[in-house]
Amino acid sequence: MQCIVLFGIQGSGKGTQAKRLSEALGYSHINMGDLLRDHVARNTKLGSKVEDIISVGALVDDHVIFDLLESILQDHVDGIIFDGFPRTIVQADYLVHYFEVQEVYFLDLSEEEAIKRISSRRVCPECAANYNIFSKKPKVDGVCDVCGTQLEMRADDTPEAIHRRFEQYFEQTHQLIDYFEDLGLLYKVNAARSEQEIFEDIRDHLSKKGY
Ligand code: AMP
Repeated sequence: MQCIVLFGIQGSGKGTQAKRLSEALGYSHINMGDLLRDHVARNTKLGSKVEDIISVGALVDDHVIFDLLESILQDHVDGIIFDGFPRTIVQADYLVHYFEVQEVYFLDLSEEEAIKRISSRRVCPECAANYNIFSKKPKVDGVCDVCGTQLEMRADDTPEAIHRRFEQYFEQTHQLIDYFEDLGLLYKVNAARSEQEIFEDIRDHLSKKGY
């Protein structure tokens, strides 16, 4: 199955771009963090296993991620946009073994800007829609445009958990830059620009590659 990967530091806009790309290409959007949070919200066995790990900002075990991925994969989709996967070299090995990776987009954003964006981020606990209190406000303050639910900060957007997530990012995920560069699959995107500019950059690059 063919796929496109988006990765970058937390707050770099992976989710927003992945959603737009999946709509433009007709691919399924797999957001690993949302899938895990959904299990936590539904109180499943998997959810109770990962809840504490997520809330402190640590990474869930690779094999738990693989099982989750296999449980949701459908044969009939045209392709997948991965958002939040892979995050470790072991996960990247798994990805290239089982999938045809078309391109990997690294959304490059400074740590300082990422912290700013994360602290102004709000999410809908019901439908997972994302907002930003400065740049992507809901129509009614604090209320989800899609389903009318009261918006919240994510449980792992506390200063301690953010710190831990950044540590994980630099210890593990950042290495994926070299990994995918060596495979000739990496395209670096300046993520400090507007949502539209970033999207156009990715689209232009994809069409130059014939996708
Ligand atoms: P995110 O919404 O992408 O920031 O993910 C939220 C949390 O889910 C992370 O801090 C991890 O605890 C967990 N998580 C998401 N994706 C992965 C992954 N690929 N591998 C391990 N843990 C993950």
